[in-house]
Amino acid sequence: MSSLLPVEEALGRVVASARARPTQAAVTVDLLDGLGLVLAEDVIADLDVPGEDNSAMDGYALRAADAEQPLPVVQRIPAGAPGVKLEPGTAARIFTGAAVPDGADAVVMQEDCIEQNGLLRISGICKVGQNIRRRGQDLLANTAVLATGRTLRPQDLGLLASLGRATARVYQPLRVAILSTGDELIEPGSGTPRRGQLYNSNRYTLSGLLRALHMEVIDCGIVADDPQATAQALQSAAARADCVISSGGVSVGEEDHVRNQVERLGQLDLWKLAIKPGKPLAFGRIGDTPFLGLPGNPTSVFVTFCLIARPFLCALQGVEEAEAPRLHAQAGFSVDKPGIRCEYLRVTLSNTATGLQAERFPNQSSGVLSSVSHSNALAVIPPGKTVAMGDPVEVLLLDGLAAS
Ligand code: AMP
Ligand code: MG
Repeated sequence: MSSLLPVEEALGRVVASARARPTQAAVTVDLLDGLGLVLAEDVIADLDVPGEDNSAMDGYALRAADAEQPLPVVQRIPAGAPGVKLEPGTAARIFTGAAVPDGADAVVMQEDCIEQNGLLRISGICKVGQNIRRRGQDLLANTAVLATGRTLRPQDLGLLASLGRATARVYQPLRVAILSTGDELIEPGSGTPRRGQLYNSNRYTLSGLLRALHMEVIDCGIVADDPQATAQALQSAAARADCVISSGGVSVGEEDHVRNQVERLGQLDLWKLAIKPGKPLAFGRIGDTPFLGLPGNPTSVFVTFCLIARPFLCALQGVEEAEAPRLHAQAGFSVDKPGIRCEYLRVTLSNTATGLQAERFPNQSSGVLSSVSHSNALAVIPPGKTVAMGDPVEVLLLDGLAAS
């Protein structure tokens, strides 16, 4: 039992090995194509955002000191207009987003103003600085905006655009080769399975998981349970990709050829992970190309990808990952028997009057992919632990693990 490798230990090893490799080449992309890619530069603001004080309201710009007296309205400044300097004892009609003219130090919203025959009277209060969005309140020139290793989210693209950037320096997306081992597999669309056959679902799960990470998928298809075929497929995958991921064939059965062939072509560690679903996981290299051999069971593929392969690939891609916030939910189930592996139960989180509640998908078998499809989180049950109904359990959101 002690030979089981804890998940954190395996994770530490794969991530350290990825960080020890050279980073991907940096390329320049159009900002609109940058979604999900990883910044390869530290972005420093070269200007203030906003670039000048502007109005947060439709209303009137004036000097707060003048607010008690009737003021002639001497200019009109819609958004986009430059405006002119405001003389003391006058006011400017102004609209949201318009530059506050020099000489004005406050904006009064129009609901608190009466304008009659070109004269403005103010009914509400007027304090210096009110309703003005200050120059540089979002970004200050010469300060850090986004750091190398940041995965660009939609709001990050917007932030870079607000600085006037039309491109970004990012790491070239990883090319990841996937291969599905197993004589029993046939491709969807290629007819009805004969007795003993089943459709290759892992190919689709893995391809989707990789695309969600904005990586390039090199699909190497199905590989027969045969040493020569396995060796050939692994070699050609390694030649075309930055990383190779296989599913199936890493147990120690006589039909499991991945292990022997990777050992022949490079180097391999075969781990018995303290993880459920999962357990057999191979990690090594083919030539110098990193290799991860995931188990074959569809749910094990998903869970081991999310917990081990994803952080590994993200590290290879140059992502500086901040630790995800730890979330807890009340167990809507019990775990009566302590396990020797850390169990990742597929659960659905929902909001209840007493907080976040986790319901367990009824069938947690590693072959039941529905358990992942019909869940939105994994509940982490550490080895040796039991859980009573209502106990707090740590949960990992699938959106954070398996989406961009
Ligand atoms: P293995 O690790 O190769 O012994 O596979 C374990 C289980 O996962 C077996 O029941 C396989 O039939 C199943 N399996 C392996 N690869 C796939 C795949 N690509 N799609 C669906 N099921 C698979
Ligand atoms: Mg197999």
